[in-house]
Amino acid sequence: MPELPEVETVARQLAPHLKGRTVRSLRILDPLLRAQPTPRLRGRKIVDVRRSGKQVLFEFAPASRTGHPLWLTVHLRMTGRLIWASNPVAEAKEDRVRARFGLDHGALLFADTRRFGTFRWFADERETRPEGVDPLSEAMTVERLSEMASRARQNMKAFLLRQDRIVGLGNIYASEILYDARISPRRRATALRPTEIKRLHGSTRKILRRAIENCGTTFSDFQDAHGLTGSYQQYLGVYDREHETCDRCGGTIRRIVQQQRSTYYCGGCQR
Ligand SMILES: [Zn+2]
Repeated sequence: MPELPEVETVARQLAPHLKGRTVRSLRILDPLLRAQPTPRLRGRKIVDVRRSGKQVLFEFAPASRTGHPLWLTVHLRMTGRLIWASNPVAEAKEDRVRARFGLDHGALLFADTRRFGTFRWFADERETRPEGVDPLSEAMTVERLSEMASRARQNMKAFLLRQDRIVGLGNIYASEILYDARISPRRRATALRPTEIKRLHGSTRKILRRAIENCGTTFSDFQDAHGLTGSYQQYLGVYDREHETCDRCGGTIRRIVQQQRSTYYCGGCQR
């Protein structure tokens, strides 16, 4: 499942190809993507492509002077991919295409093997905003994080995965952030000391930024907008490294199950 860095990667890669393009047609090929009525997109310019929480957000200009702008959020879920195809030859290589946006130059395809990805259309930009705080935004201060932790009756792993508090983290980066901050995933969020909150804040930004620089992490299905895989795997400190040796303290990396999902941590240096 793509997390914040993977979605940011896709949005950053698509933006230069799509911004300023005009939509000529939209074909929804999979009825599952028609939960909402599909709006008319013909003639609308793509104003912006960016990440919003764990989703890719598209902003479309009004089709006429009296019209209204429109927003689309795409949730990639397990296997969803947004691909910019510059020509019909590139396009023909893609299968499992669920939606096709014909543009004045090239096309944007949404391909998705397992069909869990979703489209949502909005007439109001405010409704596209996620409930939780984006960990890379200015709103995510040490004070805010401290306040969130003080109210959470959960262990640290569960705390970081709560999308209504901090948006965008999943299994991989929650483990990596706690490792970097030297905090055990089993600790109660309310028990963190101020110095640990500060470390957690710094580690969250550091790990996410480094993952974005490396175009995310690829485990099974993630591919970026160019069909390539991310390269952050080489930086993983604990994730998927059970029984291996910790590079920091020489301890052994352990795997435990929390909320039915694997958590990796070092028993030596995460307290
Ligand atoms: Zn260690």
